[in-house]
Amino acid sequence: MTLSDNLKALDGHLERFRAGGVPNRIGGKDQAGTGGTFASVSPVDKSRICDVALGTSEDIDIAAHAAHGAFPAWRNLSAKERKATLIRVAEAIEARAEEIALCECWDTGQAYRFMSKAALRGAENFRYFADQAVSARDGYNLPSPGLANVTTRVPIGPVGIITPWNTPFMLSTWKIAPALAAGCTVVHKPAELSPLTARLLVEIAEGAGLPPGVLNTVNGYGEEAGKALCEHPLLKAIAFVGESATGKLIVKQGADTLKRVHLELGGKNPVIVFGDADLERALDAVIFMIYSINGERCTSSSRLLVQESIREEFEARLIDRVNRIKVGHPLDPATEIGPLIADDHFRKVTSYFDIATSEGAAIAAGGAAGDATGYFVQPTLFTGADNGMRIAQEEIFGPVLTSIKFSDEDEALELANDTDYGLAAYVWTSDLTRALRVTDKLEAGMIWVNSENVRHLPTPFGGAKSSGMGRDGGDWSFEFYMEQKHIGFATGEHKIPRLGI
Ligand code: NAD
Repeated sequence: MTLSDNLKALDGHLERFRAGGVPNRIGGKDQAGTGGTFASVSPVDKSRICDVALGTSEDIDIAAHAAHGAFPAWRNLSAKERKATLIRVAEAIEARAEEIALCECWDTGQAYRFMSKAALRGAENFRYFADQAVSARDGYNLPSPGLANVTTRVPIGPVGIITPWNTPFMLSTWKIAPALAAGCTVVHKPAELSPLTARLLVEIAEGAGLPPGVLNTVNGYGEEAGKALCEHPLLKAIAFVGESATGKLIVKQGADTLKRVHLELGGKNPVIVFGDADLERALDAVIFMIYSINGERCTSSSRLLVQESIREEFEARLIDRVNRIKVGHPLDPATEIGPLIADDHFRKVTSYFDIATSEGAAIAAGGAAGDATGYFVQPTLFTGADNGMRIAQEEIFGPVLTSIKFSDEDEALELANDTDYGLAAYVWTSDLTRALRVTDKLEAGMIWVNSENVRHLPTPFGGAKSSGMGRDGGDWSFEFYMEQKHIGFATGEHKIPRLGI
């Protein structure tokens, strides 16, 4: 595959969007947005891709009723049948993975080399949770004197799912697949900046046999459609992925209907490199975790904490590598960094170049915008930073790394934990006992030792502190999408207290 092959294939895939836009999909039917339309723009060349239905609270209400109506039949379907349907969805995603990847790249600016894998990960998410569907209702047997106590789980009901624009297809499947496997029905509100692959997902799922109304997609802005989703009384839970500030709004908006909420939010994740680490492997991981996916990644290792004894050597090798990262057209298979998602975000990320120098840090690599045809920025490294600076505390969400030195283990831990966030952390050391001590004290939901972030689907995914609430993955996803039930059966030996005799 070359850039021109990919461009040609993309052109074919975009034709239907250019002609018909992206409608909402409610109850198995395409619906116009009651708010009219808004434009979807490609960050690659700032061109208009197509019109997108602008959903309002009215559309959310119609979709919530569709999800509510479809719930009993989907809930009552045998787990075996639900599994078979979700496996077919996985297969259908695999069959259209190329199309999904190309549309995702054009819609988000993400590089094809990563999005082709992300599309397949979406299929894997469906396949994994399809397999889990058969045990979703399982519970415990907890006998007590005179009582057989058992627990079981039932799907909580129709739910709302709100997703962001970074790797939107993969993230949507990550939330939607377990909800469907649990027996819930869904109203999905994708990010307004990346509507294309959410449309492909609902279309693929229905084509694979998902009944109408089980998955509904309403496009639109967070302030209206997203808010209405949180407030809707028929929806029993909201699974949200996005910024920490938005997460706080989700909780408030859901309060009146006592929504169960699951929040996967932002991060300012430390990667601690001790002097005894395998520096070549650490270098690969540090670079991969901040510069791949355009740095628009919640688990990016955006704060490098490097031990003073190796700082100079490590930073020198880092600078050399960062300067060789290939920025370019996202559909070029050689490209490692594509353009950022949109104008506002581009301005936010590039504003940190001045912030860094005004705070007294140095720009050791990058530090400028790239080709102005799209929202390109150079991969950037700030050195000489301290942890109190804005570049060390705020989530920049771009290919921008802040390097901070530390002298010993205590200081490394203090710096690592000195942040509002607590999503992920990475530790590089060859000393196992130190790794155990440090991981025990790190305030983060997920920690990797001598590794980049490798997602294993049965493990818990989520953050501490301002990075979120709740966990995804394995049975943790079902804990969220299902209601626990306790049932006690008296054995006959159980004595019932008697009154009024
Ligand atoms: P965002 O919070 O701006 O938007 C996310 C979604 O929320 C969008 O669909 C948006 O329309 C919607 N939204 C906005 N305001 C809303 C409101 N008042 N009510 C309901 N919905 C509303 O986030 P973003 O800029 O799209 O995404 C980037 C952020 O997502 C980063 O902070 C990143 O770290 C985070 N993220 C976290 C994870 C994780 O697993 N922890 C994964 C990916 C991204």
